[in-house]
Amino acid sequence: MPGPTNVPEVVRRALNVPMEDHRAPDFPDLVLGLLADLKILLRNETGRVFIYPSSGTGAWEAAITNTLSRGDRVLMSRFGQFSHLWVDMAQRLGLDVVCVDVEWGAGVPLDEYERQLVADPSIKAVFATHNETATGVTSDVAGVRRAMDAAGSDALLFVDGVSSVASIDLRQEEWGVDLAVTGSQKGLMLPAGLSILGVSEKALQAAATSAMERCYFSFQDMITTNDVGYFPYTPPVPLLHGLRASIDRLFDEGLAEVFARHHRLAEGVRVGIAALGLDLCAVAPEWYSDTVSAIRVPPGVDGAQVCRIAYHRYRTSFGAGLSEVAGKVFRIGHLGDLNEVSCLAALAAAEMALADAGARVRLGDGVAAAQDFYRNAHPQADEPVALSAATSVAPR
Ligand SMILES: *Cc1c(COP(=O)(O)O)cnc(C)c1O
Repeated sequence: MPGPTNVPEVVRRALNVPMEDHRAPDFPDLVLGLLADLKILLRNETGRVFIYPSSGTGAWEAAITNTLSRGDRVLMSRFGQFSHLWVDMAQRLGLDVVCVDVEWGAGVPLDEYERQLVADPSIKAVFATHNETATGVTSDVAGVRRAMDAAGSDALLFVDGVSSVASIDLRQEEWGVDLAVTGSQKGLMLPAGLSILGVSEKALQAAATSAMERCYFSFQDMITTNDVGYFPYTPPVPLLHGLRASIDRLFDEGLAEVFARHHRLAEGVRVGIAALGLDLCAVAPEWYSDTVSAIRVPPGVDGAQVCRIAYHRYRTSFGAGLSEVAGKVFRIGHLGDLNEVSCLAALAAAEMALADAGARVRLGDGVAAAQDFYRNAHPQADEPVALSAATSVAPR
């Protein structure tokens, strides 16, 4: 599944702590270290990072309510369930949304964004879903920034990185992202319950003049308490310890290697799917996601049935097709704590479930193609395997 993802053993153990005093004198040691390291993770140099006790959706709301005002015109695009939900939230919070609908399987339309921004300089914010988890589509966030610059726009750039951060490169500072959203249960390999919001200096300034009501998610309340290492309310302390372990693990592996591993694993899954004669929902390679593949089922086969069979017979959860692609796709999440063998297992389960659901696939074709790919693609193929203390199963 593309989330919640596997929780590594070292993270699961870090979560298992006795309850402690979140106003204790040494509590800031934990909090200040996390806030500093999250800035490194998001490549946010001059702004701030907030951690909210909520799922990712909470950080969407925090980003909007702290920086915009009712009636502000914003530019968004919709090409999957998650980008759809963000549009819905923006409308319900009273923003004047210019929504570009794109076929499900493609991503943020850069030329159209530039055109809209040139035509309407009053646009206050531009939104981009970096990785659309429903369709397995990754968009070009640096390209969105270029389109905004080309149009001379001074709008704020909002990016949903819930299923990209810590798996696919997202560079907040370099790409001029003003608000970068993520959640704990995807690339960060934790249970749901924390949302993380990277905020630029420009977005912090916007918070001073924005007129939308906010309370629980107020940047100012967070800043006042975070500056001294505390929260304005009771934080989920075990999750913060889990986040510490998760970040340590990511930094141990090295972010460049984390991104390379996700790319390698995703390529293997794609090679396997192609060998089965199946197509991705993503309509062209430029959109392929390194964290989730949405796979189109052949005509006459029900994607929901594939998921049900995989779940009941083979004890494997695939992501179901959501909304417009319900029944038409099933999704393999390949992000977080996993390796080549995890992906081969997913392909094997997919082959069996597809065959059982009536698809004409030859068992083993996808697995064999991915095995070939992984044998050739692994950069450390000749090195001895070092057993990682971090995991109870195979090393990364
Ligand atoms: C999972 C996800 C969300 C929603 O996050 P919740 O934690 O369920 O609130 C938002 N956007 C994307 C791209 C996601 O993958």
